[in-house]
Amino acid sequence: MRRSAQLDQYSAYIGEDVLTTIYNKADKLRGIHVSHINTTAHGGGVAEILAELEPLVRDFDIKHTRKIIQLDEKAHDFTSSLIGLLQGGQSGDISATDRDNFVDWLGQARLSEHDDAADAYIVHDYQLVPLAQLYDWMKPAAWFCHVDTAHPNPHALNYVKSFLDAYQLAIFNTELSVFPDLPTNFSQVMILGIDPFQRKHAPLEHAQGVKILQQCGIDVHRPLITQVSRFDPWKNPKQVIDVYRLVKQQLPEVQLAFVGAMTATDDTGAVDVLHDLQHYADGDTDIHFLSDPAIVGDDQVNAFQRYSSVILQRSLREGFGLTATEAMWKNQPVVGTSATGLRTQLVDGQNGYIVDDTATCAERTLELLLKRDLWQRLGTNAHEHVRTHYLLPMMLLSYLDALEKIYL
Ligand code: UDP
Repeated sequence: MRRSAQLDQYSAYIGEDVLTTIYNKADKLRGIHVSHINTTAHGGGVAEILAELEPLVRDFDIKHTRKIIQLDEKAHDFTSSLIGLLQGGQSGDISATDRDNFVDWLGQARLSEHDDAADAYIVHDYQLVPLAQLYDWMKPAAWFCHVDTAHPNPHALNYVKSFLDAYQLAIFNTELSVFPDLPTNFSQVMILGIDPFQRKHAPLEHAQGVKILQQCGIDVHRPLITQVSRFDPWKNPKQVIDVYRLVKQQLPEVQLAFVGAMTATDDTGAVDVLHDLQHYADGDTDIHFLSDPAIVGDDQVNAFQRYSSVILQRSLREGFGLTATEAMWKNQPVVGTSATGLRTQLVDGQNGYIVDDTATCAERTLELLLKRDLWQRLGTNAHEHVRTHYLLPMMLLSYLDALEKIYL
């Protein structure tokens, strides 16, 4: 059994038995080549988890390659309407013409058996689900669903299911998102974990963190509410402003920050969402928009998650909110919603709050701003919850399980 120095660092956080299980599984998979196919190189949770897994699997001689299929404008429009249906936010049907055009577009030699062959394939997210059917050499393959499919529109569900026969496994972020009626052993829940040794989550001295916030224009002598997320309507940013405004009536000195670095491959709607939000902020100089990737990097995300007074995650839908786990690791009790992922991650009243309506969210936020001993107690529980459930080795174990199922 060959060990990995990187993985061994986790013995400070998790038991030796988990590490041994990982090493045993990894030994069986040594030398295989796994191709991951998704739509963005950077930005968002998929890119994040692949970046986290990469160095560990390299230590096990498992080769990872990435193939990015960048959506053009038409493909993006189709998939945007698909996610609206799939996450259950909208009623309606999928246009047969748009569906056919999109599937044709995906089939037009975006991948070649010669250049893109591997021992196993993981196709990420709802956009790319037709791939394994379109390219029949792409096997064994798993489809990895990252969005919130707990309440899918039936037409969207049928659309996705119509492509699943070509896969050996469908992976979901939580039990709640697993499609009903899938064949036994066809689905797996993969725990998502964070890497506390990476720069974004590493310890950051208070003085240094506060300096970073100051450099981002924050008055560090006043309380700060923050939401870290891409600028996306599903992240419900307008409600964040509504909550802040209610809190401000009681605590006029409060400030608000949106941290969401734009990436070149980000969905094209992000700029529109940001502009709309800036308009909604109506010139309030206590609302800060941190969207410039030249300014917002790992240290900035770390500083905001660690040294904001309260963290919100107001998502309307969430397969699994990595940002919530990240903030919890940094001792923050997140004020989240009952979106599928968040209600799995948070324990209401113990390590954060699960609350949907604006007024109650503002009450909880104010309470955490004013009662710092409560904030600290829930924050300590939040950190402990992540340590026991959501660190990278747990994700690695689920990932190796999935590879075992499709490859061995
Ligand atoms: N993120 C980041 N910089 C930002 C905003 C977000 O690095 O300015 C990261 C964040 O730390 C998290 C990921 O992007 O790791 C977002 O993942 P999540 O699952 O919360 O949401 P998704 O974008 O996948 O819907």
